[in-house]
Amino acid sequence: MDDLGVVRREVEELRKRINYHNRCYYVFDNPEVSDAEYDELMRQLQQLEGLYPELIVSDSPTQRVGAAPLESFGVLDHRVPLLSLGNVFSDEELLAWHRRVRKLTDNNQCQFVCELKMDGLAVALTYVDGKLVSGATRGDGFRGENITQNLRTIRSIPLSVSGNIPTRFEVRGEVYLSKSSFKKLNDERVKEGLPLFANPRNAAAGSLRQLDPQVTARRPLDIFIYGWGDGGGEDMPKTHWEMMSYLKSLGFKINSHNSLCASIEEVMDFCGKWRDNRESLPYEADGVVVKVNSFELQKKLGNLAREPRWAIAYKFPAAQGTTRLKKIEIGVGRTGTLNPYAVLEPVSIGGVTIERATLHNEDNIKRKDIREGDMVIVQRAGEVIPQVVGPVIGCRSGEEKPYVMPSHCPACGAEAIRIEGEAMRRCTNAACPEQACRRLEHFASRGGMDIEGIGEELSANLISSGLVEDVSDVYSLTKEKLMSLDRMADKSASKIIQAIEDSKDRPLACLIFALGIFHVGEEVAKVLADHFGSIDKVSSASREELTAIPAIGTKIADSIITFFNQKNHQEIIRKLKEAGVMPEGGRRISAGMGLPLQGREFVLTGKLESLTRREAKERIMGQGGSVSGDVTKSTTDLVVGANPGSKLERARQIGVRQLSEEKFLQLLGEKL
Ligand code: NAD
Repeated sequence: MDDLGVVRREVEELRKRINYHNRCYYVFDNPEVSDAEYDELMRQLQQLEGLYPELIVSDSPTQRVGAAPLESFGVLDHRVPLLSLGNVFSDEELLAWHRRVRKLTDNNQCQFVCELKMDGLAVALTYVDGKLVSGATRGDGFRGENITQNLRTIRSIPLSVSGNIPTRFEVRGEVYLSKSSFKKLNDERVKEGLPLFANPRNAAAGSLRQLDPQVTARRPLDIFIYGWGDGGGEDMPKTHWEMMSYLKSLGFKINSHNSLCASIEEVMDFCGKWRDNRESLPYEADGVVVKVNSFELQKKLGNLAREPRWAIAYKFPAAQGTTRLKKIEIGVGRTGTLNPYAVLEPVSIGGVTIERATLHNEDNIKRKDIREGDMVIVQRAGEVIPQVVGPVIGCRSGEEKPYVMPSHCPACGAEAIRIEGEAMRRCTNAACPEQACRRLEHFASRGGMDIEGIGEELSANLISSGLVEDVSDVYSLTKEKLMSLDRMADKSASKIIQAIEDSKDRPLACLIFALGIFHVGEEVAKVLADHFGSIDKVSSASREELTAIPAIGTKIADSIITFFNQKNHQEIIRKLKEAGVMPEGGRRISAGMGLPLQGREFVLTGKLESLTRREAKERIMGQGGSVSGDVTKSTTDLVVGANPGSKLERARQIGVRQLSEEKFLQLLGEKL
């Protein structure tokens, strides 16, 4: 076969695959690959057709919009074709589009309108004499499905409009489902044993393309209108921006984030802002649509077969991907929970390679029928741990294996039980090494004792080497002991020892949180610290005393009592005290009155030569000052010893006064 023959085969193969995915997506609202993967196939095809234009045929997916409408709905013709949009994926590609626009409009300085690209379903609404007479999907761009009755059920679509309007006109918009409605809808489907919708777009499309309008009526669909389709004469607005405000005045719902931009730099700012903040929106937006504002210039630029030249979609990095779930493994949490997670074939989502994703708990796996070997949709949203949305049932070969939760802890082999009413199965062995690692990690975490350096890896080393058995052993570590561990350098060991020393000043609330009492998060820990003022008082509090605090119910109270009743926990508290870790007071140690340092709040960092931490604290408090473990806006002075920690950086950032040891001693009236 000659070169062209090879390319032709490749092109045909790509077309076949894209057409298949188009049907799954547009006709059945049930995609089998992520949008990013689909876009990649489309890109490959466009590239080959660009290199070999002789291979372009009119029914290539690059030349066509969507997919043919389903005849069962009844079909409506679009008077003006309803096109798709070209895509750009970076600022460079956006600038290249801008250059093309300028070239084709004779370097005209044009304005742009930026709109969020709602991830929903395009519809065309036709009004005659002010009444909504028909509504259609985009279909193949020329003919769409007649979904008038379904669209009538959407409250934000006006059934009639009045004012200065053409006898017949058509507007276009995007029907969508908010994130919260999507979640609710999928939760209900799980209960009814129905397959889940992969994302709000498919859910919106599936809800709208229903033969029974009553089903649509039960789904909380919404719409933003983003364009004029057809109708009117000379007296109509001359720009897209004016058209949107005209439509708004008629009662159509227009997205308030729309923005008129005078330059491509402003456009890029808008795109960047929403790329970074899309999570804050109550609905899914998969990009920004940039439109040339002037209708005259739009006309001059014209359309390509599938998309207009006067608009472009700036796509955000992907949030979802599909990949193979190789197997399900279990992580053991600090309270012994067996946490199932998916081991995935690596998949790049929005530029990040994902190899693991949480599966939450066994009920979730069962409800969604997630099996080992399944193709699954994986979602990554912001900084949240990636999660498996659900399986792609259509990709099953029959080889996939349903998952059975282990009855024993995979780390220590002890029995794992599930208490009635709880979602998680738990390892019953209090001495489980895996739990000890997680507890240590939690103890040293930022919200806890904030010991930089003790993370996942070092925790595992400290437990497996026997240097640490419980969290209080951290305070008996020495530099030499640390250096006996593999790959522990002198400098790192010193830093960790200093961080351990600094942690002794953490406020009481942090210590309570660090202990990892079941149901006691950072907020509850603060409440307990403020209320009781010392760990002894918290540990001896009765159920009545605890539940008398508004934020604390019986579940939390019982958990606190159970924790402190356990001998091993009492021993930990004793050892912590012995090591000098015993903060008092609420958020900070309380100050005296009428003394020289009254009103000043000190934080200590690094090692002092002439005083121990405890002595320094006592001197400050003796003169009326207070001492806190954290640099905050209320800190007045940071005392800086040798090898200061991250508190120094924080103090610099917020402009807190710094005192050397010498200055500090002078302040206390002592000389070195
Ligand atoms: P598109 O979604 O990239 O862009 C065009 C659409 O954007 C319009 O039709 C309209 O519905 C929508 N839109 C939202 N806000 C808008 C606004 N303010 N102004 C104008 N339009 C706005 O193009 P498409 O042709 O609908 O679909 C192609 C995309 O769909 C692909 O890039 C891919 O992401 C996805 N897709 C995925 C699969 C799959 O199998 N996963 C299959 C087919 C298509």
